[in-house]
Amino acid sequence: MTHIDLWKTIKKSLKKNHPQHAFSTWFEPITSIGLSNDELILEVPNQFFFEWIQSHYKESIQKWAVEVYGELITIKYTVSPEGSKQPPQKEIAIEEKYNGAKKSYQRNNINRHYTFASFIEGAHNQFAKAAALSTVGSLGQKAFNPLVIYGGVGMGKTHLLHAIGNKIIQEQQEKEVVCASSEKFTLDFISSIQKNRTVEFSKSYRKADILLIDDIQFFQGKEQTQEQFFHTFNELFHRGKQIVMTADRYPGEMVGLQDRLLSRFKSGLSVDIQPPDFETRVAIVMEKAEKNGLKLSYDIIELIGTHIKKNVRDLESTIIRLLAHSSLSNKEIDYALTKKVIKERLGKSSITDLTVEDIVRRVSETTHIKEREIVGASRKMEITEARQISIYLCREILGTPLVSIGIHFGGRDHSTVLHACRVIGEKTKKNHRIGTLVGELKNELSFALN
Ligand code: ADP
Ligand code: MG
Repeated sequence: MTHIDLWKTIKKSLKKNHPQHAFSTWFEPITSIGLSNDELILEVPNQFFFEWIQSHYKESIQKWAVEVYGELITIKYTVSPEGSKQPPQKEIAIEEKYNGAKKSYQRNNINRHYTFASFIEGAHNQFAKAAALSTVGSLGQKAFNPLVIYGGVGMGKTHLLHAIGNKIIQEQQEKEVVCASSEKFTLDFISSIQKNRTVEFSKSYRKADILLIDDIQFFQGKEQTQEQFFHTFNELFHRGKQIVMTADRYPGEMVGLQDRLLSRFKSGLSVDIQPPDFETRVAIVMEKAEKNGLKLSYDIIELIGTHIKKNVRDLESTIIRLLAHSSLSNKEIDYALTKKVIKERLGKSSITDLTVEDIVRRVSETTHIKEREIVGASRKMEITEARQISIYLCREILGTPLVSIGIHFGGRDHSTVLHACRVIGEKTKKNHRIGTLVGELKNELSFALN
């Protein structure tokens, strides 16, 4: 048996005995590179991978290797030369380029993963993304200078800011990109005072063709830093250089910033990023899962997208947690596990033991329409209404995925379910009777949650 066949056979056993995602994440990428004196040499893509295998799967691989080959086998791991090449090398080169000389306190710390390509677009961020892209195409032009991207935590502001930096580094190499959080700007400033190097400090920021400053709200209340920033800003601005900033709120609403700074900030374009809508959340979950080598079924994706609403960062960390949970417990990611992870994230009152059936029963009692009619096919007006109310409540209170609701209600498809939710959502606002009815049911049922 060649080493390649040997490894193939071991992999088959591993595949049978580990969840699919674990297999594709951790075993698929391993290649066998040789077998001699009962020693099988396996190559893993990088150091991190190696450590993960050591701490999680070493025994399992050993065990199946023994099954296939016999007691004598030992397994040696080696890290692929590709992966052991320090990936930072390139980064260092970039840093040096953008550093100018030895000024080690001013580094270009752009996250290379934050690109436009990896930025998922939805209604909530479309405008901000378009503005960011236009800025790259017309650096320093009045209409977009400065560009301020604002919005809540975890919405993708930093991602977008770095995407601008990355695109310029790739496409306009002659341009000097300087990127820093406002905290870093502050620290650099303070340490330059301590070290008597304020001139270098100024230079390091003022050499920028494009200055990217993250989270300007941290300038609030820091008078001296603001003063410094004001000068940097003005000099760059007057030389036609581009400035892009992010903030946690509309610049006009910031307190503790000098008026002259504020009016500067407001003189360009301010764009906001809103929390992602349901469709975008689903798209984000799908993409992040795929990136992490996770295969999730649609109802699981929907479950996450339904409950984790606040921002993209939470969606991302939910995926990471799922991955960790399932890797550690060696379990497939299923509905129950997902529910558990979401519960952990949101606190226990978020998803409960109240069921779709409970809701249908309660609606039936209130409307005097039989349960089996509610979940049946009749299109009589009052029955349809009771059905739509039940569907709406399942969605609102339980956060049941559209697909699952559809199944409960006589195999309807998810667009019908969505339609029902919209109809009732509208009617609760416009129709007093339905508004009250739904409101009361919702209160009563939500109360049962705790
Ligand atoms: P903010 O700066 O607004 O607090 P971040 O830019 O740090 O948010 O985003 C938090 C995380 O979510 C990051 O890992 C980022 O890559 C990811 N993220 C945010 N928005 C998107 C998006 N539209 N597409 C893909 N990933 C996103
Ligand atoms: Mg940020």
